[in-house]
Amino acid sequence: MKQRKIPMRMCVGCREMKPKRELLRVVRSPEGEISFDLTGRKPGRGAYVCRSVECLNQAIKKKQLERAFSAPVSESVRESLASQMPQLPPPAEENGDE
Ligand SMILES: [Zn+2]
Repeated sequence: MKQRKIPMRMCVGCREMKPKRELLRVVRSPEGEISFDLTGRKPGRGAYVCRSVECLNQAIKKKQLERAFSAPVSESVRESLASQMPQLPPPAEENGDE
């Protein structure tokens, strides 16, 4: 059975390939601000991580996020991202723009 092509991305925490919409995009803006990108349209360097604080912590601990951003990720950034994650809305369905 053939499935439709689903865009896949790698989580920088567990390094597993997953459908893009199941992952969270973390982006470092040109100004150096690191945040979740729920729209997929923020400018800057991005990295993908599972909706899991564990993966986020792994990504930071293993310096995968720093590598993706070519910039250091501070403990306060890690805490801020980890505290935001449980409050993020569920992934949007793939129909319609916006
Ligand atoms: Zn993961």
